[in-house]
Amino acid sequence: MTCGRCGTGITAQEKSKNISDGSIRTYVYYSCTRHKDHHCTNPYLREDYLIIQLEEIINDLEINQLGARHIIDREIERHNKLRSSVLGIKDDKKVKEKEVDIRMYAKYLLKEGTIYEKRELLEQLRNKIMLNDKKICIG
Ligand SMILES: [Zn+2]
Repeated sequence: MTCGRCGTGITAQEKSKNISDGSIRTYVYYSCTRHKDHHCTNPYLREDYLIIQLEEIINDLEINQLGARHIIDREIERHNKLRSSVLGIKDDKKVKEKEVDIRMYAKYLLKEGTIYEKRELLEQLRNKIMLNDKKICIG
């Protein structure tokens, strides 16, 4: 991901915020590294808002098929193990890797996955993504 204003790379930073009820929430922010333009004013984007925007453009994104397939295979294996060892379901109902559509799975992960799964998926995107004014677009 690159900065839409100065073209530098975007970096992720974790920051903690005090909530009114006394608890602390940690957010991840994506912002310009300002390596090229030290005064770049491109505002940061919170990770949860980034993910919402990615859900909207996922159909236009190019996903690294091999990398994404690896994530899916691992997840299906986990699913099948749960079915057979915990639920006692026989093998003939096993989900096969090839039945899972990569894009469908990517959409599912962006909605239902843990933050780690979402980040893992982000690493499999091939497109150059630009961040400008809290909005992302495909570069
Ligand atoms: Zn910048």
